[in-house]
Amino acid sequence: MDCAVQNQLYLSFNFQPMRTINDIAFTNKKALIRVDFNVPLNENLQVTDDTRIQAAKPTIIKILEDGGCCILMSHLGRPSGKEEKFSLRHIVPKVSEVLGVHVKFAEDCIGESVRETAESLQPGEILLLENLRFHSEEKEGNEDFAKELAALGDIYVNDAFGTAHRAHASTAVIAQFFPENKCFGNLLASEIENVNKVLKDGQAPITAVIGGAKVSSKITIIENILDKVDHLIIGGGMAFTFVKAQGGSIGNSLVEDDKMELALEILDQASKKNVEVHLPIDSVIANEFSNDAETKTSLINDIPNGWMGLDAGPETNKLFADVVLKSKTILWNGPVGVFEMPSFAEGTIHIGNAIAQSTKDGAFSLVGGGDSVAAVKQFKLSDKVSYVSTGGGAMLEMLEGKSLPGVEAILN
Ligand code: AMP
Repeated sequence: MDCAVQNQLYLSFNFQPMRTINDIAFTNKKALIRVDFNVPLNENLQVTDDTRIQAAKPTIIKILEDGGCCILMSHLGRPSGKEEKFSLRHIVPKVSEVLGVHVKFAEDCIGESVRETAESLQPGEILLLENLRFHSEEKEGNEDFAKELAALGDIYVNDAFGTAHRAHASTAVIAQFFPENKCFGNLLASEIENVNKVLKDGQAPITAVIGGAKVSSKITIIENILDKVDHLIIGGGMAFTFVKAQGGSIGNSLVEDDKMELALEILDQASKKNVEVHLPIDSVIANEFSNDAETKTSLINDIPNGWMGLDAGPETNKLFADVVLKSKTILWNGPVGVFEMPSFAEGTIHIGNAIAQSTKDGAFSLVGGGDSVAAVKQFKLSDKVSYVSTGGGAMLEMLEGKSLPGVEAILN
């Protein structure tokens, strides 16, 4: 079916045009929207955090205001077959409340009954389909299943950033059935746009703050960003692999011995690419991995046996903040200490505050991927940085420079 392209306002991802919901007229159209409503439920099967529903709201409301109707599809949890506790029926009241519109519910996501309900949907109405993962074909990327889903709508909108790195039936395979009528929702578009603000159009000096537990889980990100950044701050548990590789004594701190050679290679590559690497100078060390452990401050390369570095020390905090404060673009992925324990949260709070200050001074800051997102939420910094990504795995893959199947399917 036809859809009118309202304007040629394209964003770009990997230099390809990117069509969003703002380029399509949804009047009297049925928008089939892949959302990420994989929300946490309590034991009474009530939604305990509606962030993901809130995040999809702008796309849904825009389409309704255009005079279209919305058929929402999502997964919830990891069901094996039709498990009642994973039914999306449980979230219908919350979705209705957040959107301010009564939401109808379909008992399944494919089949005759849902086709009839979808067919009769009127402009302004919303239908939520049952959990896509009640059918194993969803994760298998089954084409017939995708085709059945596709038959429900006129226009396919992907707004599920959290699953954009998966080549599932509803996130990628389905797009081929809408060759002319597919686009990005607002959330997915803004995630891509904000990554591009760092990796593609970032204003120098560009700084990446990479922390967290392990070098092994961050190595691909580091390799990808070395061509793009001016400063690389390495903090958290992963820093100790670098320190030990350089001959430092790290006591019982976290280390990946088999990654020490790689760490030296990264430092070498960074220097060849004129990237200034900033490693911690000192550390708050503890005699056990516990919030109540005995603690003291030590030079980063002189940690006694029996002690482990669990947070950045005061000199490191100053150094990292200085670098962040003179940056114009900042990417933050991973805490610089065991921030979940108050005794070792200071370093992460310190760098979070520095990023907030730098943002206030005009820098662009992106917090993406896993635990640094949890940290900015915990320390109430979400509103003080430019953008907090909503997708863990998907954001990591973008930072690693990988193309996401959910994104490619719309672009191609
Ligand atoms: P990641 O998911 O790789 O970003 O790692 C995040 C985890 O790294 C958090 O749970 C932190 O507690 C942990 N972490 C940060 N610094 C350290 C450290 N010095 N030693 C052990 N774990 C750390």
